Amino acid sequence: MNTLIITGTYSPKLTACKYCQSHANDTDEKKTIVKNGKKEVTIRLESYQNIPTILKLKKQRYFCKNCHQHWTTQCSIVEENCFISRFMTFRILELLTQKISMTVIAKICHVSLTTVIRVLKSVEKHLPETLKPRSFPKVLMVDEFRSHATYEDKMSFICANGETGELVDVLPSRRLDKLMNYFNRSPKEKRE
Ligand SMILES: [Zn+2]
Repeated sequence: MNTLIITGTYSPKLTACKYCQSHANDTDEKKTIVKNGKKEVTIRLESYQNIPTILKLKKQRYFCKNCHQHWTTQCSIVEENCFISRFMTFRILELLTQKISMTVIAKICHVSLTTVIRVLKSVEKHLPETLKPRSFPKVLMVDEFRSHATYEDKMSFICANGETGELVDVLPSRRLDKLMNYFNRSPKEKRE
């Protein structure tokens, strides 16, 4: 499949060193921060007219003569060490809210399945506490109780620490599919 390639250079004028905050020009007009080559990165953009599109961006590298640090400038369209643009990230997140498989999303966006999973995992820290994967005590007591909390199931689920008796969680339904979703949010090691 053809790919549309856009090339660009990003070389902003600096006012100060990223590390020691030295002013870009010192008193005798000699440069404190010098340009030090460019680093080319490939960034996946949103498709243009269904053609996969990438940006080959040359990012300026700098060197500070005062603190001897090197660094590469960062560009707002992409997060550091990330190879898909922020627009792509938003597009993937938008598609993740729909009932379509991650494989299809990967195909639509011309990215790998791993990328889609990584984008999904990147928002995990923003989830409400109740939706985050959690760890469980070594001994888990489980029970059901009548609650009418949901329309489909009149029984709720309760679990507690089998050694201390401390309440772990109460779930509105005891149905296996609901419980599987709940427990599968935690990594396998934590569940084991
Ligand atoms: Zn410096």
